[in-house]
Amino acid sequence: MTDHAQAAHEQVERLRALREKYAQERDRRIRPDGATQYRSTLGEYGYYAKDPYTPRSDREPLRDRIEALVIGAGFGGLLTGAGLRDAGIGSIRLMDEAGDVGGTWYWNRYPGIHCDIESYVYMPLLEETGYIPSRRYAPGEEIRQHAVRIAEHYDLYRDFVGHTRATGLAWDEDAAEWIVETDRGDVFRARYMITSSGTLTQPKLPGIPGIERFAGHTFHTSRWDYAYTGGDADGDLTKLADKRVAVVGTGATGLQVIPHLAEHARELLVFQRTPSTVDVRDNRPTDPEWAETLAPGWQRERMDNFLEVLAGEPVESLVDDGWTSTHELQRSILSGSVDGSLSEEDRLLREELDDAVKMDALRARIDEIVDDPSTADALKPWYRYMCKRPGFSDLYLQAFNRPNVTLVDTADTHGITALTETSIVVGEAEYEVDCLIFATGFDVGVSGVVSGTLPVSGRGGRALLEAWGMGPRTLHGFTTHGFPNLFQLGPMQNANSVNFVHILQEQALHITTVIARAQQVGARRIEPTAEAEDAWCRTVVATSRDVSDFQAQCTPGYYNGEGSRTIGGLTYSPGPVAFHRLLREWREGDMAELLVIDDADERVRESAEIGVSA
Ligand code: NDP
Repeated sequence: MTDHAQAAHEQVERLRALREKYAQERDRRIRPDGATQYRSTLGEYGYYAKDPYTPRSDREPLRDRIEALVIGAGFGGLLTGAGLRDAGIGSIRLMDEAGDVGGTWYWNRYPGIHCDIESYVYMPLLEETGYIPSRRYAPGEEIRQHAVRIAEHYDLYRDFVGHTRATGLAWDEDAAEWIVETDRGDVFRARYMITSSGTLTQPKLPGIPGIERFAGHTFHTSRWDYAYTGGDADGDLTKLADKRVAVVGTGATGLQVIPHLAEHARELLVFQRTPSTVDVRDNRPTDPEWAETLAPGWQRERMDNFLEVLAGEPVESLVDDGWTSTHELQRSILSGSVDGSLSEEDRLLREELDDAVKMDALRARIDEIVDDPSTADALKPWYRYMCKRPGFSDLYLQAFNRPNVTLVDTADTHGITALTETSIVVGEAEYEVDCLIFATGFDVGVSGVVSGTLPVSGRGGRALLEAWGMGPRTLHGFTTHGFPNLFQLGPMQNANSVNFVHILQEQALHITTVIARAQQVGARRIEPTAEAEDAWCRTVVATSRDVSDFQAQCTPGYYNGEGSRTIGGLTYSPGPVAFHRLLREWREGDMAELLVIDDADERVRESAEIGVSA
């Protein structure tokens, strides 16, 4: 055998062994109840989803008319509100179930919370609001305050309603506007209806038998109880000094919160089912001299550059971090171009080899940092890099070297076995604790429109979910035939990225440009033709990349429907860079597929023109 053939043979053998190990690790975690194992915090466990940050005040029901109503006041809603303001729309109402704006950053205030995407590309409208983040990866509270800054800058508090949930949307054909009902007894009328209610919003609990019996203190990370722990998002959880604390979950949230709990709790038990990858974070304060050098347009350029690097475009990376350095491992799994110079088989093999190199390095990092060999072994992730959201921390692994921290591996018992009044049971072992914190994530993709908890009735009283009986149908992911002036933000049938706020910014730009054009040409209705909608659905299906084989090899988690392979709706697989280009070019056209000008509109337009010339 030549040296080359010998090396190739060894590589194949190495991959074979790795595949076997990955399959074993997946199989020991697969649960027959898959995605149904979780408990929702919508009903019986609603206590876990209550707003601990803003007192809910009584108010009289509102009955009024506004131009645009936006459901959801996270970054998607705020960016849409800002765009509508720029487009000259007079009355804009943002509405949210939270007590204030901020979305994810309103709810998630746990100690250690930081952005895991570089803040200069993640935090939107920095130049418009004249703000420079304090750190490369900004703390959550700073991001939340930036959301408030945007709301103030664009005067979006003027008609804001918080602690309010829409309960029904109905299209009034004669008036050409939406009637919106809420859980506060409000009835709003709005010409334009925009929903931006997020994809990871409703906290979920693990389906642990006896969860209702636990009598110690307990809460979910997205509703942090500082009254109990003391301190704030910077840490200093002094009230835990005499407590035995348990945390369940070691995902992106667990990674950030555990170092702070470790520092302050008398004892910390970390209940892990599947370890995350933990790469270098390298956070640092913003260099003021660098900030001085930023020329107008810098943020747009940097955001585009980040997306382009991840999409495999041949550009030099401005961001240069753990996301950009692994872009080749992310691309064929998320979306973007793939290397067309190789056969499919060779491409997959090369990706798998690169993946193994990266994962070996991450596993080796654990041995370097964690002192106790059996703890280090239990912390090692055995799956392909994109099976879970990649994690980054320079504090997490180090926390397991503290004498007061114990890792409890629950892989073989498929998670925690049971809860009693005082204890957590894993197999035969029982751990008595004072406090149990769930870092167990969120229901995926449960926008009320899609789940049916927010019924939408369009032209002729037709229900949206009936129109979507065979699956969602949209033009570009935003609008649906039969549902005029209704726009949805989110990844459905359009693009996705790890920098989701950038995606939302492009979506808001698109929607508000369309609305501005409708106003300009005097179109009262914005509604895709059935043909345009049909053509887009066909495009999405034709371009969609099947990653179910990859997903099926992964340990279970929300990325792969807990091992069921079902990973939510289709997105436009050529990726966000191609999609944004497509939208830009489409906007340069006449938008005839979307802008409906009927007789009534003609009359409105004529009278407007007379008004203008008079
Ligand atoms: P995840 O869904 O990622 O993690 C939930 C954790 O709970 C997992 O470790 C899971 O284990 C564990 N778990 C669930 N059920 C049980 C059980 N019965 N017993 C033991 N463990 C259990 O939620 P996160 O809140 O960590 O993150 C959600 C998403 O939020 C991220 O993927 C990311 O998109 C976003 N996020 C973003 C941040 C940012 O800075 N931009 C920061 C934090 C979160 P298993 O893996 O085995 O299912």
